[in-house]
Amino acid sequence: MNIAEFPRVRLASLPTALEPLERLSADISGPRLFVKRDDMTGLATGGNKTRKLEFAMAAAMQEGANCVITTGGIQSNHARQTAAAAARLGLSCELVLRHSAHDEDENYLNNGNILLDRLLGAKLHLHPAGSDRDALMADLAEKLRSSGIRPTIIPLGASYPTGNLGYADAAMEIAAQANELGITIDAIVTATSSGGTLAGLAAGFDTLGYSTQLFGVDVDNDPDCLEKTISPQIEATKVLMGHPGELEHVRVEILFGHAGAGYGLPSDEMREAVRRAAETEGLLLDPVYSGKAMAGLIALAKSGRFGLDANILFLHTGGVAGLFGYSSQLSS
Ligand SMILES: *Cc1c(COP(=O)(O)O)cnc(C)c1O
Repeated sequence: MNIAEFPRVRLASLPTALEPLERLSADISGPRLFVKRDDMTGLATGGNKTRKLEFAMAAAMQEGANCVITTGGIQSNHARQTAAAAARLGLSCELVLRHSAHDEDENYLNNGNILLDRLLGAKLHLHPAGSDRDALMADLAEKLRSSGIRPTIIPLGASYPTGNLGYADAAMEIAAQANELGITIDAIVTATSSGGTLAGLAAGFDTLGYSTQLFGVDVDNDPDCLEKTISPQIEATKVLMGHPGELEHVRVEILFGHAGAGYGLPSDEMREAVRRAAETEGLLLDPVYSGKAMAGLIALAKSGRFGLDANILFLHTGGVAGLFGYSSQLSS
């Protein structure tokens, strides 16, 4: 793999742990479940964006940027990790955040990730639900440039080939940890939204020649996400890695039906998965991504899709700060 050739800054505590989930496996009567603790990447409560930002921030600094602009929802984990990365590296950070259906909720508006964004010194630009985030970021960049600042825009979720390298690198890390444990990973299950995590894993495992199956649990209720988002991300990431073409060793499947009524909207199945992981393993999931992904994993396991001795890895992408932003959605 050519990952070492790309500029990178150290932001994450790596490798993150890969641990068995024995009580949860028993609770759902198999298969053998493991968790990759990317909720513990270490930057301002952690999460999957930190790996992507190691490459995205390095690229921005190499371009001479002294400011990063990015976007997400009010409770964006990506925005919070970008704010923390910028603080650590001495860049300024401007966040274009979009309102949503939870606008009446005091915790949603001021607790959780957005509380941390403010503590981390980011400048917040709040916009109504449905506004065009890319246009808003471009306008903001223009305005900053005209006052002598050198901004770079990091796309939604840091999901673009440079950011996705973080998850191609994670594929190598997972393969090495599985070898150490003397197991092969038959499948990986994770939440998918802007697609870079899944795309980076797919490109990474494929380049390694490691045969596995990747399940992305759709959290957006977007039936076209594979064609619109994930496949193009995989293709572009493979090109950047000097390994263009179709996937040969990795199968990617999207699991639908676990997003509830849509992005950030709670479901009973998500609440049940969050509670089950907490009560059986002391493992905290989040309401927007990892809770729905775990619900997808439990449903998949119960459907008999895996053999009882299959090794299934749940990639925990983080989001724990979101528990506090969505607290009213979790108590019922
Ligand atoms: C952003 C995010 C995801 C989704 O990752 P993508 O690369 O955008 O598909 C999953 N879980 C959490 C906690 C996230 O913040």
